Amino acid sequence: MKTLHARYPFLSAAREAVETAGVDLAELVASDSAAVERGLERVEWAVTEGSVGEPHRRTRAELLSYPVARVLVSLVDEHILLRRYARAEAATAYERFSAELAATAEFQSTRTERLDLQDLLVEFDLTGHVHATVGDDGDYRVDVGTYLEHTAGQWSDEWRLVNRPLADGQVPLDENELLLVVRQAVRRRVADGLPLSVPEPIATELDEEAERIREVLADLDLTRDIDTVVPDLFPPCMRHLLDRVQKGDHLEHHSRFAIAAFLTSIGMSTDEIVELFQVNPGFGEEATRYQVDHIRGDTSPTEYSAPACATMQSYGDCVNKDDICEDVINESHPLNYYEHRLEAADEGELVDWREAESEGEGEEAE
Ligand code: SF4
Repeated sequence: MKTLHARYPFLSAAREAVETAGVDLAELVASDSAAVERGLERVEWAVTEGSVGEPHRRTRAELLSYPVARVLVSLVDEHILLRRYARAEAATAYERFSAELAATAEFQSTRTERLDLQDLLVEFDLTGHVHATVGDDGDYRVDVGTYLEHTAGQWSDEWRLVNRPLADGQVPLDENELLLVVRQAVRRRVADGLPLSVPEPIATELDEEAERIREVLADLDLTRDIDTVVPDLFPPCMRHLLDRVQKGDHLEHHSRFAIAAFLTSIGMSTDEIVELFQVNPGFGEEATRYQVDHIRGDTSPTEYSAPACATMQSYGDCVNKDDICEDVINESHPLNYYEHRLEAADEGELVDWREAESEGEGEEAE
């Protein structure tokens, strides 16, 4: 097991090193407390800090903490955890290989335990799709299919294909942008296969650690405390329903319920929902108030939650599904879609509709 494997435990070579060493996962979690503690730390840091923390001083513990962390994430099996974990592993790897590539240029002789760009491209099958160039618009050109595969739904406007020069089926990128694409490939590699199916003895052994992660998640209340209203980032189904309400279309009960419950779940009050619906005067304020109060449990014994994708699909309300629906949230829940877009958004995109409205009113009053 080499230091390089411990630094980049998602590499094929690292996985082979673990296999060659004949590591038995059940035995590992029962006997290697250093790997288990570091595995837990990886996940806790991923949730709270967005990275996986400082490496353990022992190469073996550091490398083996990676499979332990994957098992822990699988045991807790919360969508937001899986996403944050994969993103944090990718962010740490990106930080490391960016620093190493910069250092490689200066200290060629110490290359042995470092990755170079070619190693990374080979690792993620990108060599045939990334071409070095001499030009003004970028150091590399990436085949458009590869570009789309690795940037779909992940980044802000500047990464959208319509905002990029495209020539001969290739997109120009500078080196840092190419490394961001590699970071995305790492994220996908880490997320691949999660959640794992974990055998009972291993799950029992890691019970306390899994519980600890649940506590960390609960403390941060990441799962359903959104309270940010940015309609442009809504999932396509909810965007579509909101557009229809605002145009004054008559919505069937299930569709009206879906959009009202979604808006309630993201922290909107009854008054705010009424206001958002009210663009069209014929929308029926009283009925909306009654329905929203009912959904939030004010006028009923139950607090209803927004429907999951499966329910939306069965009612024909899943409309305009996009790459994020399919590749990122796996058609699980519109709230997962929205959380993902909020997390991936640039600061500038996150203008809460309620704040924008009150600023607009202020300007009108002046
Ligand atoms: S897959 Fe889910 S989030 Fe996407 S449009 Fe359909 S219901 Fe909405």
